[in-house]
Amino acid sequence: SEIRTVADLAAAGDAGRPAIRAPEGRAPLTYGGLRALIERTVAALNRVGVGRDDRVAIVLPNGPEMAAAFVSIASGATTAPLNPAYKAEEFEFYLSDLKAKALVAQRGVETPARAVAEKLGVPVLELVPDAEGGAGAFSLEGGAEGAAARPGMAETDDVALVLHTSGTTARPKIVPLTHGNVTASAQSIARTLELSPNDACLNVMPLFHIHGLIAATLASLAGGGAVVCTPGFNALRFFGWLDMEKPTWYTAVPTMHQAILARAERNRAIIERTPLRFLRSSSASLPAQVMRDLETAFNAPVIESYGMTEASHQMASNPLPPRPRKPGIVGVAAGPEIAIMDEEGNVLPQGAIGEVVIRGPGVTKGYEANPEANAKAFINGWFRTGDQGMLDEEGYLQLTGRLKELIKRGGEQVSPLEVDGVLSEHPAVAQALTFSIPHAMLGEEVGAAVVLREGMDCTERELRDFAAKHLADFKVPRKVVFLPEIPKGATGKLQRIGLAEKLGISA
Ligand code: ATP
Ligand code: MG
Repeated sequence: SEIRTVADLAAAGDAGRPAIRAPEGRAPLTYGGLRALIERTVAALNRVGVGRDDRVAIVLPNGPEMAAAFVSIASGATTAPLNPAYKAEEFEFYLSDLKAKALVAQRGVETPARAVAEKLGVPVLELVPDAEGGAGAFSLEGGAEGAAARPGMAETDDVALVLHTSGTTARPKIVPLTHGNVTASAQSIARTLELSPNDACLNVMPLFHIHGLIAATLASLAGGGAVVCTPGFNALRFFGWLDMEKPTWYTAVPTMHQAILARAERNRAIIERTPLRFLRSSSASLPAQVMRDLETAFNAPVIESYGMTEASHQMASNPLPPRPRKPGIVGVAAGPEIAIMDEEGNVLPQGAIGEVVIRGPGVTKGYEANPEANAKAFINGWFRTGDQGMLDEEGYLQLTGRLKELIKRGGEQVSPLEVDGVLSEHPAVAQALTFSIPHAMLGEEVGAAVVLREGMDCTERELRDFAAKHLADFKVPRKVVFLPEIPKGATGKLQRIGLAEKLGISA
């Protein structure tokens, strides 16, 4: 039957098959168990006056309860998963900004969100894990009895999820996503990856971000398979999870893949006895060399995809074999329609560089309470991604950078992504992040932060000479700083904007 809501996804698998799993030998939550959990949870929410238009902030540790809470609470209310690492001030901002009707926290797990909720008069519902019910099963306790304005099961146009964007380029914006949006995206991901009941995804992504919620969790359900919910990414424990859980795939951001790659050699035996069908990378650009090295290390295809919060994650993806994957290229439209547009809103021909625009059932109807951002974001029915790119003759999308991150050096424009790519080709470089340095005469100057490979050495001068062999002079970083690690945002993304200031670098 047709899938139009998150609850429909929970009906996509056979009752006795595992839907949500946890490492460490716990019994799985089956599809039948998940359907029963959805019914109980919607009834419990309705009993305390929470219905389809109400927002429930979810502050839980990453893991099976979080995945199960997301699916079952979304079935009768709007979920607002928040980063459990937030401090009191941040919770205060988000709980008020979201107008949360209730907060869900886990019994026995401390969080400053509880005290903030009490202060704001937001009832706290305690999630009590149900050890007998399978991984992730729970009941909700607390809250006062009351009548919900719109009780019952959510429908396709109800909002399932509100998320803030990652805040890579600006202050995070609130994105409402309907059941229609998220199920369309989950199903296109399942199609791209040919997910089936035999698949199990090892989830290491945070479940307060679109990537883990849709690609790992909902897409797995859309395929009738399972998601194995870890407490979150940990490069040391990763190979143990592979060995114990025998997943068929995982999805991660490039910084995680790099950390995994750094430990692949010493875990060769585990990799050999755990063949993956594919690895997936999304949410930031995957350097071509990292992709090649991962494919060699795992002897499996690496599927790079392009996603964003406003599109309910996936927009484009490289295909599975035998169709070709292109390193450094994010693949073909896989979800929404994709076009390239100039600043005036004209669709450009194949081969031209411009702004990537999208339209389709996964795309949000607009940011919440932000008419200014919406006026800029939508044009002739298309949503502007803020990313720059071009389509090749086979319809593959190459991203050339984020419009906001382009470095304007004098009269020239420098794509930091292009400079990262060149620096990454140097044998001593493990990772490079190019950024803008404010400059009195030129406006902006090019800088780069570099992490060297273990045991390798290299000077700033050598790297600049290397870059100058491959790039026009104006693109060569004027300053190169060596760091043990490049600072990341909450979702594991590297932030170019403001990096010069953070590192105290001036021209
Ligand atoms: P904000 O919008 O608040 O600045 P953000 O855009 O980083 O934050 P997300 O929605 O998490 O928040 O990320 C979407 C963006 O991530 C895309 O617009 C794109 O710039 C980048 N991105 C996603 N996948 C890829 C990829 N495979 N290659 C390059 N960039 C990618
Ligand atoms: Mg964005």
